[in-house]
Amino acid sequence: NTFPGDHSGNLQPRQTPGVLYSKAVPTPVQRPELLAWSAELADSLGIAEPGPDDIQILGGNLVTPSMYPYAACYAGHQFGNWAGQLGDGRAITLGEWETPMGNTWELQLKGAGPTAYSRRADGRAVLRSSVREYLMSEAMHYLGVPTTRALALVTTGDKVVRDMFYDGRPADEPGAIVMRAAPSFLRFGNFQMLAARGEIDNLTQLVNWTIEQFYPHIEGEDKVLRWFGEVVERTATMIVEWLRVGFVHGVMNTDNMSVLGLTIDYGPYSFLDNYDPKFTPNTTDLPGKRYAFGKQANIAYWNLSRLANALVPLIPETDKLEIQLKAYKDDFSRKYYAMMANKLGLDGINDEDDVKLVAEFEKVLTAIQPDMTIFYQLLIDLPTELATEQDMLSYFKSSLYNDPEPGGATQLYTLLKSYQARLSTNTCTREDSLQRMRKANPRFILRNYLLHMAIEELQKGENQLFLKLQQAIKDPYSTSHDEFFEMRPGWAATKPGSSTL
Ligand code: AMP
Ligand code: MG
Ligand code: MG
Repeated sequence: NTFPGDHSGNLQPRQTPGVLYSKAVPTPVQRPELLAWSAELADSLGIAEPGPDDIQILGGNLVTPSMYPYAACYAGHQFGNWAGQLGDGRAITLGEWETPMGNTWELQLKGAGPTAYSRRADGRAVLRSSVREYLMSEAMHYLGVPTTRALALVTTGDKVVRDMFYDGRPADEPGAIVMRAAPSFLRFGNFQMLAARGEIDNLTQLVNWTIEQFYPHIEGEDKVLRWFGEVVERTATMIVEWLRVGFVHGVMNTDNMSVLGLTIDYGPYSFLDNYDPKFTPNTTDLPGKRYAFGKQANIAYWNLSRLANALVPLIPETDKLEIQLKAYKDDFSRKYYAMMANKLGLDGINDEDDVKLVAEFEKVLTAIQPDMTIFYQLLIDLPTELATEQDMLSYFKSSLYNDPEPGGATQLYTLLKSYQARLSTNTCTREDSLQRMRKANPRFILRNYLLHMAIEELQKGENQLFLKLQQAIKDPYSTSHDEFFEMRPGWAATKPGSSTL
């Protein structure tokens, strides 16, 4: 690695001007035990089943001579404010793994102890947050959403002290470490850090390397500009995919935005249960709700504008940079309508009337707040002969958290009638329309309350639900896990969001 790095291995929390990363050796743990292993991912990366030595590696107790563990230096805007240097405070990259496909993947331990960027925190992760990251990043992959992956989850045998949000009292929790994997964990914030420090040579080197490694088809004079354009496009794709499956990230800070357009940093995320665009799972994001479900498209744009700013020193024609940035709006709406066409089983969103139909669905769903996942599943099999509003309400009953107001029910009824009229004008076959819907609408989602229950069980030493969820996430569009095909239960409605730590 020819990048400017700090090779001292000094783990004192500090500012590290002039470098892109600092050496960081994992701190050993008591007794690493393998809790989960992503066999399909391991296969595709050419990694064998872990033996006893490998489990020591996964726990941070063993670093082999071929590894060069480091923590990356980055910055970011958090909740809209510039936060300066952040860096990997609890993630340590062990190195780059060469895959059978001929590319490399970064393998990273999250929760393996302090680094130069840990500030006042311990560099550790609890079982709760590690299970959430492990299961959800894999779930997103199987849903078809661009994401970083999780290869392994180990418990450490150590306790970690955390401030539980529920009662404010510090509590011991079991510690764990996730090995996460991605072609790269580079974030907008890596580039922002260098620009903010005026380290233009380093910025140039990092941008050129990123393009060579991950965007090798981009060459020529204007490559930085075109690269930015592709980051914009990939980001739009990622957000549209989140909206398709009802995912709320919860902490869309620029240090949590991947330049590969991958979903990264699984903290207080949640799927929507009831369709509420104002919902945020992040208890620290109240009352502004900056990172609510329905705001994600706009926040991504704002974050991209921060990345654009960081690239100004490399792209003096700021007007061209601005054009690339603004292309997000068209990219996004094109992708969004294509996605909605699939969700609704339409041959396209072809004219003003179709656009209005989509808007009407958003409006009525927001008013009635049915369970998003169940509603769309029921829509696939919508009977043609819903004679009355009452028929319709009983058909959708298993998706309704509340009885709709009479006005709301009428709106839904009218909407479904025009939807059926529109379906009848489809140029594709009925079977094709159904196929689109089945592929676009997940039937199993990893609901927050299910995670919550699985984690409580694991903390008591039981893993039945965890194992079931591990299976269910792999097949989210089928009916094979219909034991989970039901609305969030009443008791789970007011559960506090999980802390990110
Ligand atoms: P996040 O909001 O999870 O993306 O984290 C923001 C920053 O805080 C990143 O620089 C993290 O590495 C750091 N951080 C979060 N939790 C810890 C921890 N337990 N120890 C050290 N650093 C942490
Ligand atoms: Mg982060
Ligand atoms: Mg985090």
